[in-house]
Amino acid sequence: MSRSTLVTGAAGFLGSHLCDALLSEGDNVVGVDNLSTGNLANLSHLSRDSRFSLVELDICKPFDTGKVDYIFNFASPASPIDYSRLGVETLLVGSAGTINTLDLARKYGAGYLHASTSECYGDPEVHPQVETYWGKVNPIGPRSVYDEAKRFSEAAVMAYHRYYGVDTHLVRIFNTYGPRLQANDGRVISNLIVQALRGEPLTIYGDGSQTRSFCYVADLIEGILLLSRSDEHLPVNIGNPVEWTILECAREILAVTGSKSEILFQDLPQDDPTRRRPDITRARTLLNWEPKISLRQGLERSLEYFRACVSSR
Ligand code: NAD
Ligand code: UDP
Repeated sequence: MSRSTLVTGAAGFLGSHLCDALLSEGDNVVGVDNLSTGNLANLSHLSRDSRFSLVELDICKPFDTGKVDYIFNFASPASPIDYSRLGVETLLVGSAGTINTLDLARKYGAGYLHASTSECYGDPEVHPQVETYWGKVNPIGPRSVYDEAKRFSEAAVMAYHRYYGVDTHLVRIFNTYGPRLQANDGRVISNLIVQALRGEPLTIYGDGSQTRSFCYVADLIEGILLLSRSDEHLPVNIGNPVEWTILECAREILAVTGSKSEILFQDLPQDDPTRRRPDITRARTLLNWEPKISLRQGLERSLEYFRACVSSR
């Protein structure tokens, strides 16, 4: 019989790709989403698939969509613009929302995977970031609603594993991009590609020397599925270990789009992490996983989607 899987945040960027992957593996999938940052268009191609259904609800309130074998908890605003706008909602979904989904897993004896984040490391003193590093997060700064909610949810997931024996998994996701990344959610890849395609200046915050490591969505989803089937309960970094300065990333986007846009330097937001790169030794050893798609290839694969976003606005 097919596995019954619940995906929270199903209408979002990653949640919708995860639903596609699970359906192609033969699961029956129930997606839940309150559409606060998600988009129904991300799921429109599934409207005729009888193995998929979407329930509109807020996971901060207790809910039960029926017997389930596995839960992927991906609901949360994720971009700095979104979680700044939805500060308290972000704290609530990471706390009450995570507990509600863990209660469901406990009730049905379901497996559980939580989408955590590299933001748990904050502005890191250890580079590249290993899972054993506890992080440097400002608990009262503008990013804290997201970072501390995610750190709480990691504690909650570990507690449900330790005290209640729930079969939990924790993925620390590093910056991921690809088709269905919201064109207007303010993340660097979406902002710069849209600006490049429109011939507008590319906004770089600070001097562009801060670094990030960008993972293409298909690589990420493959790593997440492997982790969900593993016996590993401690956090595992999934991301691309190739590190780019934001300025280098902007130049790559100019090259891929063929744009002549200029670069416009703007103020660096408070507490913006200076550098970020995953150490993926654990993913390599435990899951035999590593990303295959370079930034150049991933940007090329994302162009058609962003072109459509630009022409429809
Ligand atoms: P997204 O904003 O596209 O998707 C999040 C989805 O969650 C949206 O559809 C939103 O409507 C839904 N949601 C938010 N609050 C909810 C609530 N209370 N009840 C029900 N649904 C709710 O973001 P994304 O990039 O797809 O991120 C998905 C998950 O992965 C998030 O938990 C995020 O923290 C994590 N993550 C993403 C990245 C990345 O680079 N994209 C990096 C690290 C972690
Ligand atoms: N950034 C930028 N220009 C933009 C958007 C973001 O220079 O238009 C920078 C941002 O300050 C950060 C990096 O790019 O240093 C990544 O930002 P993003 O919001 O994508 O992810 P996060 O900061 O959460 O890693």
